[in-house]
Amino acid sequence: MDYYGSQISRLIEQLSALPGIGSKTAQRLAFHIVNMPIEKVQALSEAVVDAKKNVRYCRQCFTMTDQELCPICSNPKRNARQIMVVENTRDLAAYEKTGRFEGVYHVLHGAISPMLGIGPGDIRLKELMARLQGEVEEVIIATNSSLEGETTAMYISKLIKPAGILVTRIASGVPVGGDLEYIDEVTLLRALEGRVEL
Ligand code: ZN
Repeated sequence: MDYYGSQISRLIEQLSALPGIGSKTAQRLAFHIVNMPIEKVQALSEAVVDAKKNVRYCRQCFTMTDQELCPICSNPKRNARQIMVVENTRDLAAYEKTGRFEGVYHVLHGAISPMLGIGPGDIRLKELMARLQGEVEEVIIATNSSLEGETTAMYISKLIKPAGILVTRIASGVPVGGDLEYIDEVTLLRALEGRVEL
């Protein structure tokens, strides 16, 4: 790609390393950026650096936030007795978009996968168990319906049930192997409403 000159090639290379950005999109973005006013480019690069520097995990639910407690955990109107367990922050965002879930979340940051060598100790399970010391009435397991998601759901259910807490699993309206983040809001709501006890 050196026919563009090394500076722009470097920019294209950096952009195409991002997920979902192929080399054509990377080129289009790179040309767009070099044609932007310098102030806009500076604002963009500052936003990237600031986000990276300041974003951290909520100390309660482990979603990404820039405060110690995320806006959901610190909202007194949310029902802290109902915890929805999701694999990642994007899944949390998918459910938040429905605007109908009033409980709180717990983000595992992954799922158990014996094949990939990801065990229970590699996701935020310990942290979930610690939260159950409080007054929790229901844990809704909303991991993906992939093999890993189901394995994780079963593992969590076995871990929590002896504590006498209601454990439910979102309904299988979510297609098998489907990533929650790509599923429409109606299907997500149906899956939540049709959840079954484990
Ligand atoms: Zn939180």
